[in-house]
Amino acid sequence: MTDNQQTNNEYIFIVRCGEVALKGMNKPYFERMLLDRIKKLLKKFDGVKAYRHEGLIYVRADKELNPGAEGKQAILKEIGKVFGVASISPAMECESTMEDIGRKAVEYMMEAIEERGVKTFKVEAKRADKNFPVKSPDIARQIGAAVLKGCKVLKVDVHEPDVRLFVDVRHDKSYVYQDKIPGFGGLPLGTNGKGMSLLSGGIDSPVSTWMMAKRGMLIEAVHFHSFPYTSQRAQEKVEELASLVATYCGRFRMHVINLLPIQEQIVQNCPEEETTILVRRFMMRIAEELARANDCNMLITGENLGQVASQTAEALVVTDASVSMPVMRPLIGMDKTDIMDLAQEIGTYEKSIEPYEDCCTVFLPKHPSTKPKLEKILQSEAKLDCEGLIKAAVESEEIIEIRPA
Ligand code: ATP
Ligand code: MG
Repeated sequence: MTDNQQTNNEYIFIVRCGEVALKGMNKPYFERMLLDRIKKLLKKFDGVKAYRHEGLIYVRADKELNPGAEGKQAILKEIGKVFGVASISPAMECESTMEDIGRKAVEYMMEAIEERGVKTFKVEAKRADKNFPVKSPDIARQIGAAVLKGCKVLKVDVHEPDVRLFVDVRHDKSYVYQDKIPGFGGLPLGTNGKGMSLLSGGIDSPVSTWMMAKRGMLIEAVHFHSFPYTSQRAQEKVEELASLVATYCGRFRMHVINLLPIQEQIVQNCPEEETTILVRRFMMRIAEELARANDCNMLITGENLGQVASQTAEALVVTDASVSMPVMRPLIGMDKTDIMDLAQEIGTYEKSIEPYEDCCTVFLPKHPSTKPKLEKILQSEAKLDCEGLIKAAVESEEIIEIRPA
């Protein structure tokens, strides 16, 4: 028996790469990055190994060390969190002979009958190995006949079967499986630079961070608070939220900055309706400083066109003018309901809606200006020692290591 042969004590998962498969000359690099990431996430399990073979990634897991449906689900869930994974199929491995494929197909369907009361099925076959002596339609027909003979309770239903049994015939080994569980797609982490994400405790910024990480971007984050106006618990909530994001993008550093001295200066010296936009410009500049000092290529925010007063087209232009580094706003054109759905899907929503105060709600103006003029904003800023304030804020930073939850 070779090292990579399934035993009765193993689960096997076939992992398909998404866009990675389109990457031309760079394909081996992307595949290696993807495999590294899968290996890293599976480290927490005993008796699990992953490897690459003929354009697919295979994961094998010891059944005794990862018992029952929970053991299998836990591994599936981890693989599903890896960016670059298009789909995953729990499978059974066979020798590439019609006899063995038939035997394993029967075994697979017996389990499906026991576990889920399956009554009907259909076989679909694919032959990656064109030298295999039986053609795909004949493979499907013959394996279907073998299953009917081995599982007397089953019937064939070509239109709406309870189970679609896929047979994938490959050169050295073949596979039978049922589900193609979709992954998130995207590109492997670490293949697209690093972004400094402005992370609040709200619904949007965890999602925007996740979306950029999904495109292969490494993440570093900055969070602003206004202690003692904002509480210690509010910051802990943000750390917990960040940990949820880290289950996808891996551990990252979060710079934590007290914005209160700046907010106080703004409130004392500038028109009330400009408070929000001025605070936002300071946030951006501080984030840009941190980004430059930490090898980030761009900033990331959860801003969304028109959602609140500070996100009108005019306000976004004035915010943008505070920095020269590109600002990524992956949520810009999404509806709030779609952002909320995505937050649910990635598991950050429940934490986001816990009610804690945010630094932006401190000193909130009664009538924030929705159409700020850059010229007027610059005049207000001229009354402040912007550079000194930014420097002091950056110097007072606290750095927190965020680990996956
Ligand atoms: P979110 O749900 O992400 O908090 P929001 O709809 O509440 O967004 P704003 O409060 O205007 O909108 O914030 C817009 C963006 O500015 C946020 O998505 C985030 O990227 C950044 N931001 C806001 N508050 C903070 C904060 N306290 N620390 C770091 N970044 C922040
Ligand atoms: Mg917010």
